[in-house]
Amino acid sequence: MEEKKVAVFCSASYTIDPLFNEAAREFVTKAASEGFTIVSGGTIKGTMGVISDALEQCGGKHIGILPRFMTGLEHKGLSQTIWVDTMSVRKEMMREGTCAVVALPGGVGTLDEMIETHTLKKLAQYHGEIFVLNLGGFYDPLAGLLDYYVKTEMLDKASRDMVRFASSVEELMEMLVKLK
Ligand code: AMP
Repeated sequence: MEEKKVAVFCSASYTIDPLFNEAAREFVTKAASEGFTIVSGGTIKGTMGVISDALEQCGGKHIGILPRFMTGLEHKGLSQTIWVDTMSVRKEMMREGTCAVVALPGGVGTLDEMIETHTLKKLAQYHGEIFVLNLGGFYDPLAGLLDYYVKTEMLDKASRDMVRFASSVEELMEMLVKLK
């Protein structure tokens, strides 16, 4: 069977609501048990570290892509560690060959990764799905901004709908398994 890869964009912060990390752990464990390979930033930091620990524990396949300047931050339990020169190349490589990208609750790094993917999909340069885990309404302001763009005709409705929001891990998994 063809390997299905999913890129996960998530927080590098250590001090976010633990519920977000719990959901991240649950999501990657379930995705791995459905046979998906997870691609992430691969560091030990924040939610990235949490998903790396979870995937190591459950034996899930996990590819980490890191810029060389983050040497020392790599998680030792990755199935594969890929070193790149820049954050831009890292984003490109994280997306490469994936059937979906998933933005978990995160900060500007996560937003940057997700929005760049959205722009590429709009331009037919990315063909996977874009899922956003809107846990506890964390991404309501982003959904509101995208709606505002549609209202002001900065974004067409079809492109707006390329970003698919899930309000729970269960809903996210339902969307993901359809890609198998
Ligand atoms: P943020 O959402 O701002 O916490 O950034 C985390 C996301 O951006 C991850 O998906 C990483 O790929 C990338 N990133 C940004 N800053 C860092 C960092 N200090 N360490 C590791 N990854 C980072």
